[in-house]
Amino acid sequence: MSAAIAPDAATPEPVLQTIGLSAGYGPVPVLHDLHLRVDPGTVVALLGPNGAGKTTLLLALSGVLPVMSGEVKISGTPTKAPLFRRARRGMGFVSEDRSIFRSMTTAENLRVGSVSVDDAMDLFPELKTRLKVTAGLLSGGEQQMLTLARALSRKPAVLLVDELSLGLAPLIVHRLLERISVSAHELGTGVLLVEQHVRKALAYADHAYVLSRGRVVMDGSGAEMSGRIDQIEEAYLSGMVLKHADQEAAPVAAGDDGPEA
Ligand code: ATP
Repeated sequence: MSAAIAPDAATPEPVLQTIGLSAGYGPVPVLHDLHLRVDPGTVVALLGPNGAGKTTLLLALSGVLPVMSGEVKISGTPTKAPLFRRARRGMGFVSEDRSIFRSMTTAENLRVGSVSVDDAMDLFPELKTRLKVTAGLLSGGEQQMLTLARALSRKPAVLLVDELSLGLAPLIVHRLLERISVSAHELGTGVLLVEQHVRKALAYADHAYVLSRGRVVMDGSGAEMSGRIDQIEEAYLSGMVLKHADQEAAPVAAGDDGPEA
């Protein structure tokens, strides 16, 4: 009989994990000793005030920025691979700049991304009447639907999403977050989502981390964290980096969209 210990079914291997990760720009660390995990089929929200290091973390996770110390593991394997190799291993990345070809139609954008139009329309039927429209003429919400349709149709093992909802109407933000959540659960994709609409993000997140000045200062399930909005607001205020000494703190992002409808 083998004495091998069976993996614990209750604790799946994370699709993405950082162990004591520090990273930054040149010799200056921005992220300090981060321990995070994203399990398969879950949405993890990454919250924090401006300058907390959220984008820097996504860049380090995707291989764009080198790691200074610690490790990034994808599906249990430590990696220092560049972005294109991580993409081959099933990592998707949706950046805040909507990576679409603006002069091509919606359908052409899907084809050049080697994505089936049918698969994409299953994800966002709203785009069916927009297939022949030049992507640059789509609304901001439709552009993000196209970006997400391309990313999710590839059925990534892990998807990094940076500030998807920038400048979009609340209803569209809900629609995009709902799609991400349903797809993550259906496909088994682990999603790490940077989002400024804290309440909305927590409504769809299975877990959330709050970063402040490059460190994790809070974490918990989406439901737990929804009950700790006051503490999250405090973390935002104390972590806010003011550019000028005479500048007042901006409104706290945690409360910017009011109570969830
Ligand atoms: P925001 O919500 O404003 O995008 P963030 O949480 O994503 O903020 P980062 O953009 O990761 O924060 O920035 C974290 C820190 O790293 C900030 O102090 C920022 O000034 C610094 N930083 C960002 N990009 C660079 C860069 N290219 N070179 C040097 N420092 C940088």
